[in-house]
Amino acid sequence: MDTIPFLDLTPQNEPLRSELEAATARVIASGQFTLGPEVEAFEAAFADYCGTKYAVALNSGTAALHLGLLALGVKPGDEVITVAHTFFATVEAILYVGARPVFVDIHPRTLVMDTRVVERAITPRTRAILPVHLYGNPVDMGALKEIADRHSIPVLEDACQAHGAVHRGKRVGGWGAAAAFSFYPTKNLGTLGEGGILTTDDQKVLDIAHSLRNHGQSGVYRHDKVGFNYRMTAFQGAVLNTKLPRLDDWNADRRRLAECYRGALEGSGVEVVAETPESESVYHLLSILVSDRDQVQQALADRGVQTRVYYPKPLHRQPAVDMKRYAGTKLPVTDSSAARVLCLPLWPGMRDEKVEQVVAQLKEVLT
Ligand SMILES: *Cc1c(COP(=O)(O)O)cnc(C)c1O
Repeated sequence: MDTIPFLDLTPQNEPLRSELEAATARVIASGQFTLGPEVEAFEAAFADYCGTKYAVALNSGTAALHLGLLALGVKPGDEVITVAHTFFATVEAILYVGARPVFVDIHPRTLVMDTRVVERAITPRTRAILPVHLYGNPVDMGALKEIADRHSIPVLEDACQAHGAVHRGKRVGGWGAAAAFSFYPTKNLGTLGEGGILTTDDQKVLDIAHSLRNHGQSGVYRHDKVGFNYRMTAFQGAVLNTKLPRLDDWNADRRRLAECYRGALEGSGVEVVAETPESESVYHLLSILVSDRDQVQQALADRGVQTRVYYPKPLHRQPAVDMKRYAGTKLPVTDSSAARVLCLPLWPGMRDEKVEQVVAQLKEVLT
C-alpha cells in the first residue's frame, strides 16, 4: 500500500500554478511590494466574504490577534477568557498586551469553548472573551454573544482555522467585535508565505489596526502611537486574491471527506469530534478521540498512515506561561481530550479511496 501523508497541498496549488505566476508577475511589474492595490482588493473581498464592513490585512494571524486585543482596549492586568486547547498564539497575544488568560474548559463532544461555563469565569477585570473555532468548528457564538452582551464584554474570535465556517447561517469572523484569521500555508485559505487579517464592523477598531500595523502612523511620518510592522506584502495579497474564489469549493470538499470518514467509522467505536449544533465546520482538521492514542498513532505510522496530534499539551501546562498561577485551574475535559485526540489525513482533492484506506488501517490497529 502507498503511504498516506497527513497533508498534500499539491492538488490545491498545482492547478493554480499559471494564475499564481501571473499574479506574482503583476506585483513585480507594479513595483509596489507591500500593502498597495493587491492588498486593498483582498481586504475588500475578504470583508465581503465574511459579511463584515472592514478587514485589515496583516503579516500573520498572531499579529491579527495582537492588534485585535489592542483595538478592543485590553490592557495590562485585564483578564481575557479563553481555552487551553488551542495553538499557543491564542495565548501569546493575550500575554503580549500584559493581560492574564483565564482558561475555561471545552465541550467534550466538539472540543471548542464550552459556553455553559463562561459566565462563572467573568469577573470585574474581564475585558474580552477570546473563543477559538478550533479544527474549523465554530464555537456556539449565539450562546456566547448572549452572555458577552449581557455583561458588555467584547468578543474577539480566533478564526485562524475556520475561514468560511458558518454558525446559525452566518460566517465566523462576523460574530465578534473583531476576528483574527491566519493565511499560514496549511490553513483552509493559505498563502505562499505568511499572512493574516483582522475583520470588524467597527470603524474604531479599523482605525486603530490601520495605524498600529504601520508604526502607529496617522499621516506620513506622523506617529501618534508606538506601533508595529505588521503589514501584508503585495505578493501575499495577489496570491490570496487568486485563491479566495476557490475557498468555498475547497471547504465543500473538506466537508464531503469528513462525511466519508464519519460514514466509514460508524459502528467502529471511534468517536469523531462533533460539529457544534446549528454550525457547519470547515474541517481544517478531522479529529477523532481514541484511548492509547500514542500507540495507535505509532501503529498507523508503521502502516504508512501519517497522523498528527493537535495539541498534546494544554496551554495552562506550558512552561512559557506562569504554570504556578494555574496550579488550581481544573480543566478535566481539556486534559482528557489532549491525551486522546488524533487528527487524520484530510486535504481538498484527497481521493475517497485514501479515506477508506486510512479507516481500514485504523480499524485493524484498534482490534
Ligand atoms: C495558525 C493559528 C494562529 C496563528 O496564525 P499565524 O498566521 O501562524 O500567526 C492562531 N491561532 C490558531 C488557532 C491557529 O491555528
